[in-house]
Amino acid sequence: MKIIRYSKASVENYGVLRDNKIHELSGDIFTEFSESGRSFLFGEVDLLPPVDPSKIVAVGLNYKEHAKELNLPLPTEPLIFLKPKSAIIADGKNIIYPDMSSRVDYEGELGVVIKKRAKNVLTSDAKDYILGYTCVNDVTARDLQFKDGQFTRAKSFDTFCPVGPCIQTELDPKNAKLKTYVNQELRQSTCTSDMIFDMFYIVSFISQIMTLEAGDLIITGTPKGVGSLNRGDEITVEIDTIGRLTNKIV
Ligand code: MG
Repeated sequence: MKIIRYSKASVENYGVLRDNKIHELSGDIFTEFSESGRSFLFGEVDLLPPVDPSKIVAVGLNYKEHAKELNLPLPTEPLIFLKPKSAIIADGKNIIYPDMSSRVDYEGELGVVIKKRAKNVLTSDAKDYILGYTCVNDVTARDLQFKDGQFTRAKSFDTFCPVGPCIQTELDPKNAKLKTYVNQELRQSTCTSDMIFDMFYIVSFISQIMTLEAGDLIITGTPKGVGSLNRGDEITVEIDTIGRLTNKIV
């Protein structure tokens, strides 16, 4: 099932995407919901990011091929950092190139959407705490990341976290194909089976540090093939049955 969030006549709601139509939901997507019977065409609504998290937790260096590309040893535990929710934008919205930076990179990533409050969750139970999966672009001002020696400024500019287009609840997350395109040219292509720490281990690990809430977003690292963007470029992150997340940088 593909869940999207949209706004119609200034009212925000969730819907299920089926047969190219958005079927309005009533209830709570994290607990119980049903279709209300109303449906819309895409042109009749404004698409919103599918998540409204209390926090975004990101994992650095989590693909074996990417570590090899950077000549870095494989990490023995996940390196995590935070991105602010103010950085989130929807599919189709523009990424703003900040004046402070002269090197902005894309990072195509699989996003994990938390279903219910999670604290000290076992890896073997983590699946029950996940609502579904989405595409994320962890946009990064690489020059500022190196200059600062930590991640906050580089990862946190407004518009630096495109998310969408939907939450897919039926993905096989350990065997999903992830591709990133810049101006339709393939730049990243991997399978999530190349991850060093899988999403269940990551949910468990983070939940031992901070309480995860329903709707929180975890982004699970980028594969090899990271590169820079220029103003005017169009970036697409595509994951199997989730779909395509496309944004322009201006
Ligand atoms: Mg990243």
